[in-house]
Parts: sequence; C-alpha cells; structure tokens
Amino acid sequence: MNITELFRQKPVVFSFEIFPPKRDSAIDTIWSTLTQMEGLGPDFISVTYGAGGGGGKSYTAQIAGAIQKKYGITPLAHLTCIGSTRAEVEESLQELREEGVENILALRGDKIPGVEPKTDFLHASDLIAFIREQGGFSVSGACYPEVHTEAPDPITDIRNLKKKVDAGAGHLVSQLFFDNGAFYSFVERARIAGITVPIEAGIMPVVNARQILRMVSLCGASLPPKFTRMISRFEQNPTALRDAGIAYAIDQIVDLIAQGVEGIHLYTMNDPDVAQRISQAVENLRK
Ligand code: FAD
Repeated sequence: MNITELFRQKPVVFSFEIFPPKRDSAIDTIWSTLTQMEGLGPDFISVTYGAGGGGGKSYTAQIAGAIQKKYGITPLAHLTCIGSTRAEVEESLQELREEGVENILALRGDKIPGVEPKTDFLHASDLIAFIREQGGFSVSGACYPEVHTEAPDPITDIRNLKKKVDAGAGHLVSQLFFDNGAFYSFVERARIAGITVPIEAGIMPVVNARQILRMVSLCGASLPPKFTRMISRFEQNPTALRDAGIAYAIDQIVDLIAQGVEGIHLYTMNDPDVAQRISQAVENLRK
C-alpha cells in the first residue's frame, strides 16, 4: 500500500521503525523481532539503511520485502544518497522493485568525518526528485522539529524542507523529540511555509541511560525538566527507568493524538516488548 494513501484512510497512522542487525550473523534475530511485532497492528514498518555507517546496509531491501511478503505489513525502506553514485542508487531502486517495496524514505545520510561524500546527490531533495523521475515509488522525507544540526536557522531549514516536498515527498517523518511543544511549533512553521503533506511525529521510548546520552549528542533533542528529572530519579534502577521511559513515551503520544497529530512513528530500537507495551496502551486512541 502506498503510504500517503494510508493517511487518507486512518485517523492516526501508527508505524514502527526497525534497523537491520549490525552483524551479518545476527540477521535471523530480525525475523523473531518481526514475528513478535506482527500482531501489534502497525500500519507500516520502516527499515533503516546503513545508519551508523556500519553493516546491515545491504539487508534493508531484503527485510522490507519480507515485511510485505511474509508478514503482510506495508514496508517503508530508508535509502541514503551521501555515499552513492547515481548508478548505485539505480541499483538499490531495482533491488527494492524486485522485493516488491513501493515506499522509500529518501535521505541524504549523515556526513562521516574523514569520508569524502559522493557528489551525484547533494541533498535529500535531489534523491527524492531522482526517485520520482524513475517512477513506481511513493517517496517520504525526514524533518527536524528542533532544526537539523547543520541548518543555520529554523527558517532556512523549513525552506529546505519545502524543497523536499516540492521535489515529490508525499509524507514526512520527524526526528525524535521529548518536548511536544517543539513539535507543535515546527508543524505550525511548516504549514505557514505551505507544506501540506502529513507529518508523522517520531517518538523514541528511552529505556536506558546510555542510550539518552548517545541520542542527544547525535540529534540535539532538547530535554524538558520533566524528562531530566525522570532520568536522574531512575538512572540507577534500570527496570524503573525502562518503565518510566515507556510511560513518558505513552504520555507524549496521548498528548499528540489529542492535539490531532496525523501519525506516530515509534523508534522501537528492535525491542518487541517496548513496542508491545506502547501499542497496547494507545490502541484505543488510534480509532
Ligand atoms: P537533507 O534534507 O539533505 O538536509 C540536510 C541539511 O541540508 C539540512 O541542514 C538542510 O537544511 C540542508 N538542505 C536540505 N536541502 C537543501 C538544499 N536544497 N539546499 C541547501 N541546503 C539544503 N540516516 C541513515 O544513515 N540511515 C537511515 O536509515 C536514516 N533514517 C532516518 C530517519 C529519520 C526519520 C530521520 C529524521 C533521520 C534519519 N537518518 C538516517 C539521519 C539523516 O540521514 C541525517 O539526519 C542527515 O544528516 C540528513 O538527512 P536528510 O535526508 O534530512 O538531509
């Protein structure tokens, strides 16, 4: 199913994100993760592409294909362009076609210190335009409620986001955030800028203290006092922190749905227990 069509059919789209295992030998673990997530009723599942610069890159198409064929769930395959030539992107698109995947989250990818980027695609908007030219795919893009780390200011970032939508992105997935207020102001800026496509809110349940430090350094999400108090109170008690992190994510989702959000994209970190606890808690809110 075309993802933009899902937004026409559902009051609130609810999706999961998973990543291919880092080690080739661990590929089987993803099938057991998906088997456990299958019954939770996500509207689609996205699969990251080479995130973190490590292995797993080549499994994105295969896993996305299996999500469709084996589990009967709509897949969204991430695809980055910073390290690829036009011919390599064409090859990836062919692989996705062969796997029966019709939705792509088109990304630039992060700059890796010491690695020279390829120059065929400078921005995600170039990749989006290229995929649309090739035809046969519905294309989504990423957005940043608290501004992309390389953007000089929020207005420039929104103007650049508009370029992605004008290039053919029919749906946007947001970077994770812990302050719903930042998301609401961002959506308002986007709508003022003439961006009318559905914007899904990216929610990451924080279930361990190490994960928080890593995430914040990577994406610059601001941490509201309510969130930092939760971390300092429970960081020495992993079980309590896990429960509190899940409760915080549920609280964010309840507020987002009450405010009329079009979709929730749950960064599951491949953890079926977290996905299950959150899905069940918000099940009746999605109707
Ligand atoms: P772009 O849209 O190209 O934006 C990057 C920067 O360039 C921004 O500062 C923007 O303002 C600016 N810019 C954009 N277009 C223009 C233009 N036309 N002219 C001038 N400036 C411009 N990374 C992975 O490696 N694999 C993944 O699977 C992955 N999945 C992700 C999923 C989501 C939902 C998100 C939010 C991020 C994901 N990332 C992933 C990380 C992403 O690759 C990085 O955030 C990257 O730094 C930017 O990617 P982008 O597609 O947003 O780039």
